[in-house]
Parts: sequence; C-alpha cells; structure tokens
Amino acid sequence: MNIVVASSEVVPFAKTGGLADVCGALPQQLSALGHQVSVFLPGYRTVVYGDFELHELGIKLEIPLGNKVIEGKLLRTTLPNSAVPVYVVSQDEYFDREALYGEKGSDYADNCERFVFFSRSVLEAVRILDLKPDIIHANDWQTGLIPALLKEEYSSNPLYENIASLITIHNLAYQGVFPADQMALTGLDWKHFTQSEMEYWGQLNLLKTGIVFADAINTVSPTYAKEIQTAEQGCGLEGVLVERSDCLSGILNGTDTGVWNPETDTLIPANFSADNWPQGKVICKQHLQKLFGLEEDANKPLIGIVGRLASQKGWAMILQVMKQWLDDRDVQWVVLGTGDPDYHTILTSLYQTHPHKLGLRLGFSNELAHQIEAGSDMFLMPSQYEPCGLNQMYSMAYGTVPVVRKTGGLADTVTDADHSQETGVQPGPANGFVFEEFETQALEAAINRAVDVYCHDKERWRELVAAGMRHDWSWAASAKDYQQLYEQTIAKKRS
Ligand code: ADP
Repeated sequence: MNIVVASSEVVPFAKTGGLADVCGALPQQLSALGHQVSVFLPGYRTVVYGDFELHELGIKLEIPLGNKVIEGKLLRTTLPNSAVPVYVVSQDEYFDREALYGEKGSDYADNCERFVFFSRSVLEAVRILDLKPDIIHANDWQTGLIPALLKEEYSSNPLYENIASLITIHNLAYQGVFPADQMALTGLDWKHFTQSEMEYWGQLNLLKTGIVFADAINTVSPTYAKEIQTAEQGCGLEGVLVERSDCLSGILNGTDTGVWNPETDTLIPANFSADNWPQGKVICKQHLQKLFGLEEDANKPLIGIVGRLASQKGWAMILQVMKQWLDDRDVQWVVLGTGDPDYHTILTSLYQTHPHKLGLRLGFSNELAHQIEAGSDMFLMPSQYEPCGLNQMYSMAYGTVPVVRKTGGLADTVTDADHSQETGVQPGPANGFVFEEFETQALEAAINRAVDVYCHDKERWRELVAAGMRHDWSWAASAKDYQQLYEQTIAKKRS
C-alpha cells in the first residue's frame, strides 16, 4: 500500500502528547511491513531551525485561503534510523513560533488558518510529489479538514478520486472549534455549514468535519471507541459518532520498545527481563527508595505514580486514599508529576508531614519516570477517562503491577487478578487490579487487594508480574491492525 500520514505532531520533531508518539512510531512499523509511507508535518521552529537535517526540495506551494493565496515550501527529512520520508510544510509566518498551538495558556488566534493551510498543503503536495497514495491518514482536528476536502473538492480530479481517508481521534476533548466566519477559510461551500456536517452550536468544528467526511474513523483503544459514543464521554460529538459507528473502530497504541525496555534501559540502575526480574527489580527499588529518602526495605510495598496532575487522572481520589494511608499503613508512595496547582499544594503538605513514606517530585523528568516504573511494585492509574494510556503498559513491561480504573485503554490492557474472566477486552492472563466505579472506596479496595497479594501471596504476585512482562506491548501488533483497517477502507472506497 501507499500511505500518507498527516499529523501536527511527530516524534522526535514536535510533540505535546501521544499523537506525536503514534505518528513517529506507526509509519516506521508500516514501512517495515513493506508499505510505502510518507509523513507530513508543519515546519515549526524546532523542526526547521532545530538540529534536524532538512533538504530543500525547491517546491513552492501556493495555497488558497479565503480570498488570499499563501505561499509555503516543502522540505524533506526522514524519521530517525529509517528511510521513511517526512515532508515538512514550511511557512514561517504560521509556524516559526515559540510553541505548536499557543503560548501562556492561550491558543494562537489564527490556529484555524494555520491548520487549514497545512491540510490543503498536504493535498497539493501529494500531487506535486506524485505520491499516488491509496489512503491519507489524518489525525485529530488539525488535519480534520483533509477528508472533507478530499471528498468535496478534490474527488472530481482523477488523481484523487480513489484516495481513501481515515481519521484517528487521539483525544476527543480537543476539537478545533472556531467562529463561524472562519468557514470561509476552508474553501468549502457554506452548504456544508450545517449541524449534520461542519457546524457545531453555531461554530466551525474541524474534528467533527473529519468524522463526518472520512471513509473510516478510529480511536486509540477499542473501549474508548465505544465510550465516545455515549453522552458521558462523547464531548458533545456522541451523536455524530453513533451515526458513523459502522466505520468507527479502536486500535491500541503500542509502546516504543527501543526506549521502554527494562533489558536495555540505560536510565535505570539495573537491567532485567521476564526471566530474572526479581534480582534487577530489587536494585531498582532500593535505588528509588534511597533517591526519595524512603526507608530502604525491599519488602515494603511501594506504589508509584507518574503523570499529569489533572482531575482526569483521578487525583481527588488518590489524595484521599493517600492522606489516610500515610497515617495508617506501612506502604510507601512515590509521585512524579506536574499540573493543577491545588494538587501541588496538597501533595507538598502531605510530603512535609510524611517525608519517609512519600517521595515527591513536582516536575517533568523522563529519567525519573523510567526509574519509578522500574523500582515500584505497583503503579496507580485510576483515570476518569483514558483514550489509551501508556504508563500502564510501561509499568507492566517493567514488572510493576498496575492498579487501574476500568476505562478506555486501561480496560483493554489490564486484566484483573480476581476477575480475569470478566475484565480485559483482550483475553489473557491476569496482570493487574481493576476497579469500576470512579469512587474513592473502589480505588481503595483495589489498592488493598494489590497490597494484600503483594504481602501474602508471593507466588500469585510473581504470576501477575510475569504476565505483564511477557506480553508484547510493542507497536508490531497495532501496526498490523492499522494495515488491516487501511486495506478495508481502501477496498470499501473502491467498491
Ligand atoms: P496522557 O497522554 O494522558 O498524559 P499517557 O499515560 O498516555 O497519559 O502518557 C503520558 C506520558 O507522559 C508517559 O510517557 C509518561 O511517562 C509521561 N509523563 C507524564 N508526566 C510526566 C512527568 N512529570 N515526568 C516524566 N514523564 C511524564
């Protein structure tokens, strides 16, 4: 197949979230499966003026935007250690800026214009570069216009008429909603500015546009694909998602096993594998305890948490349990995260009263994230919603047993120790502890169960660790699922 992936973020060039990881890793896997893949990315400052080796292609783009024509140019590089081409759409007025989407908590005022420009540039470049794709894979609202342009404007051109489109939703909470007058920038007829197509409560919605016009839609886990069709988790788009449910599926993200692999990780004090983990993990645990000033005792249960300090991640519940347990229980906690200032304040005061039971780092540290995944016994992720989630997969790869809420990708990757028949969408051996209600009591009961097994049933604990470590969390399986989805979408488009 010939595949074009269009994304506003691609690792290692530009990243604010999981979108970048997917669009950096998936193309390489698809290429390894024998497909021809081209990636498109905006020419942000870090990309064009950073340390990457870019080649000028001498290709000028002239993109109509409302009543203007905006010029840009195409640069070319490759994904690291691969031959997969990355075409960078350079336009300094739009992209030579400090950040990707906004600064000081505010979005850039011209975000609609910037990403309409990028979306149109991808379609123009496909022709100029003679790429002849079978499918264009758009991602999130930033490229949501591509499926609409393909269907409504470009399909009359024989070069484009057979190109299928897929849009992946990485986070439904971000939809690219703009004032109605910006509809003029899209170049599409106002007849599409209706509730059933591009309009959303009187405004232009670019993610909805992608969902309505794409030949297929997917999100980053099978359970999240179902959840977003409900009023609770549909972020207002549940209606349109239900309407397109026959074309909506979920594919789990993978992990980058070059980076997250306890056998080769250079950021942790000892390497280990599924065959010899107890020896390596005990060194990592001791190192972690020392680093955070906790009592160095290999038998004390140690609970790790890494992530954004946001209400989505269940912090209100975690803090309630933590407050009580720091007083009553002989359990250690290590927290790495940054986010909501209220959580910073509460965690800081808990740390001040219990410095030997709670290790705290309020900030971002990739190195510490690796060390916490490796040195903890358990990892907490009681999220309210979780499109896919990576940390639970990292922790299982590192022999750390996850305690998670049954939602989104967490439900699809973690199978409960006591209810393995009922939980876990992908059948497999138990590898963690799962609870359902988004309530403190339910979380506490799950942590209690985990601590109980850890302290009193070592054999069972070893089974849970081994199941997590032996599972293949890499991109290899997911890339095959994408391959299949592309094939189906292309076949349907041509039928
Ligand atoms: P989300 O994308 O909702 O933040 P995920 O679990 O999917 O949650 O991915 C979060 C990623 O960001 C993981 O790779 C995690 O290790 C990393 N991360 C989050 N917060 C921090 C932090 N404070 N320090 C280091 N890494 C972090």
